[in-house]
Amino acid sequence: MNYLRKKSLENLFDKQPQTFQNDQKYSSLFASNVFTNEVLEQYVNKDAFNQIVLSVNKGSKISRSYADQIAASLKAWALSKGASHYTHWFQPLTGGTAEKHDAFFDIKFSGKPIESFDGSQLVQQEPDASSFPSGGIRNTFEARGYTAWDPTSPAFILGKNLCIPTIFVSYTGEALDYKTPLLKSIQTLDAAATEICKYFDKNVTKVNATLGWEQEYFLVDRALAASRPDLIITGRTLFGHQPSKGQQLDDHYFGSIPPRVISYMQELEYTSIQLGIPLKTRHNEVAPGQFELAPIFEEANLSVDHNSLVMDLMNKIASKHGFIVLFHEKPFEGINGSGKHNNWSLSTNTGLNLLSPGKTPMSNLQFLTFFINTIAAVLSHESLMRASIASASNDLRLGSNEAPPAILSVFIGKQLTAVLDDLENVSKGKLSPEEKTDLKLNVIGKIPEILLDNTDRNRTSPFAFTGNKFEFRAVGSKSNCAKSITVLNAAVAQQLEKFAKEVNTLIEEKDMKKDDAIFNALRDNLKGINNILFEGDGYSESWVKEAKKRGLSHIQNTPEALKAYISKKSISLFEQTNVLSEREVKARYIVDLNEYTMRIQIESRSLGDIARNHIIPTGIKYQNILIENVKGLKEIYGKDYQKFAEVQLKIIERISGHIDQINKGIIQMIETRKSLNKIDDEFNKAYAYFEKVLPFLNDIRYHCDKLELIIDDDLWPLAKYRELLFCR
Ligand code: ADP
Ligand code: MG
Repeated sequence: MNYLRKKSLENLFDKQPQTFQNDQKYSSLFASNVFTNEVLEQYVNKDAFNQIVLSVNKGSKISRSYADQIAASLKAWALSKGASHYTHWFQPLTGGTAEKHDAFFDIKFSGKPIESFDGSQLVQQEPDASSFPSGGIRNTFEARGYTAWDPTSPAFILGKNLCIPTIFVSYTGEALDYKTPLLKSIQTLDAAATEICKYFDKNVTKVNATLGWEQEYFLVDRALAASRPDLIITGRTLFGHQPSKGQQLDDHYFGSIPPRVISYMQELEYTSIQLGIPLKTRHNEVAPGQFELAPIFEEANLSVDHNSLVMDLMNKIASKHGFIVLFHEKPFEGINGSGKHNNWSLSTNTGLNLLSPGKTPMSNLQFLTFFINTIAAVLSHESLMRASIASASNDLRLGSNEAPPAILSVFIGKQLTAVLDDLENVSKGKLSPEEKTDLKLNVIGKIPEILLDNTDRNRTSPFAFTGNKFEFRAVGSKSNCAKSITVLNAAVAQQLEKFAKEVNTLIEEKDMKKDDAIFNALRDNLKGINNILFEGDGYSESWVKEAKKRGLSHIQNTPEALKAYISKKSISLFEQTNVLSEREVKARYIVDLNEYTMRIQIESRSLGDIARNHIIPTGIKYQNILIENVKGLKEIYGKDYQKFAEVQLKIIERISGHIDQINKGIIQMIETRKSLNKIDDEFNKAYAYFEKVLPFLNDIRYHCDKLELIIDDDLWPLAKYRELLFCR
């Protein structure tokens, strides 16, 4: 072990990290590897530039001739930056990113070698879709899939590759990625929110969902990790006894960052900044070896791309610094796991954050409109929101007193709750001038001040309002942000559409003034909202009981949680908002179920292999040493030997006992898997893996961890928690 550790440090000092030079500012390097509008402007004429920008903003089709002009510009720019290849860069349902590189290099009919790239190569590519998860959508005879250019996320250069963000769809047009439904949800939400904004300001023509993610992760020494097949294969430790010191001293959070980690972070920031990823915050997290980074928020589609890209960069750059990154939600038992906090809001083309109260009563009414409708949307689709964050790895974190429980609730703070109570009490129908004045002055007029001191933030809430945005905190660290944000966007869009209808009806049929109608519709939508609001300790047992009384779903395993995807209500949400068709939703449900089964299967296999190939043999080795020792003692002391061999004999016995339990466990686990693998139905199979295979992991681990405690440290083949967790 020590040898490996030393080796890894040697490797580290071989390489000079690439980082900012003394005179380089973040701002001066920002987006230097991104094909921004400013770059485009240098390559095309003014007319073309305006047309292109307009089409991108409006989401309308870009004509072939403009596509050719953009392609020519991209090529010229990329070649000037030393790129040799281009790739359509997309996010398939594996959760990672995918790229297939093609060289710009080509040979003309005449035999002349050239660099070429035109509009058709920019707009569409045809990768084989058959090796990506599709949930049964793709038949093998229709293995083709298409990647299609997403002009709303700019191309960038990574290494020597020009990367073009794209969507990924099947030959028959169904989405096979995370970006396609995300873009659709953004569009529907834009339309619905813009309509509402028109009540307040006619100049609003576009509303963007904004996202600022916070990414938690662990860094582990690469050489030490190499001794842990469980970490390498499953992303988490399947074995490992608790170290004597874990996080009980709370001495890691916000602590001084170790120099080797800083060096990795600096290189990551240097690369990210040039790719236009506006990284802002970095710090130690609660667990030893755990860290967090967060950017400045951006328009949601771009922010999702940036999160996927940064996760890819983190893997690559960490490795240069002798680390591996763990994105798994629960890499170490008994120690806090990692999440992703998705901060979400809505912003207008006029520069307004719709979840931030303004200076006038009217702008506060607008704030309340979006605030209340968001909560109503979460209330309406709480189980789907829960499904959107479900995964085998997040199951290990949610509800274990370190992350929110698997119950969706919304935290808004005492003062805003009081505002909602006041609003719920407004009288039905047209409001009297006095009532209106009172509301405007004493209720909504006071909101900005309320928010200023409403800083107590409930860390145990899965979905909290934090002053000018909602923070979805139960999201898993590994998951693609798009999954949860798509559901949130769709739910809010549907709710806003419903709200607009209600307001318009009140105006047209009840002859109400606009603000009367809005007050009335808000009041109606507040009904039942208390059900989802929760201010107390989300980790407590009493909340679990209360949530049950309230009828909120509390599902602690992924297969069951995923069912919410295919409920009538969810399918109609996806269809109504044009985000996914029923066929697409069902396909995604199958993809997620299969992934669950596979993850548990892989963990179970890895555990069995390591226990048999590493742990049992080590137990036997140590036992043999002890046996030799006992034999020696017998030689020296004759029949008196037992007096001196008491401990040794006990350990020999204990080792046999644990080995026996481990072996029995593995045999039963394999038999169980064999029988479960015959199940055809995806849900039944996933659920059976949850119910029948998962428990073996803990049982077998228990005995392995006991062996770790009694076996000679020199012999133990797997790096221990104390070694993995304290990287320097
Ligand atoms: P904390 O760790 O206390 O939750 P941070 O300041 O680390 O808060 O993170 C806040 C995150 O919220 C950042 O990623 C930031 O970009 C994001 N954020 C701030 N305002 C908005 C907004 N209007 N829309 C979306 N995200 C936002
Ligand atoms: Mg946060």
